Amino acid sequence: MGEKTGGKPKPDESSRNPGDEAAPGTPGTGEDVCPACHGSGRREGKECDRCAGSGRITRVIGGA
Ligand SMILES: [Zn+2]
Repeated sequence: MGEKTGGKPKPDESSRNPGDEAAPGTPGTGEDVCPACHGSGRREGKECDRCAGSGRITRVIGGA
């Protein structure tokens, strides 16, 4: 005993993009092509604001 570890691990919210439905690493989620830019990472000559230019988003996968 001794050190306290602050409880359960949580997904890294800091790497989350606006278009993500959940934080990366969340159970029941996966990467998918960004529906806004279709994977290009760009929209109208600018960085896609949904995926932050990555072309991918994290989305919730229907379970079962
Ligand atoms: Zn995008």
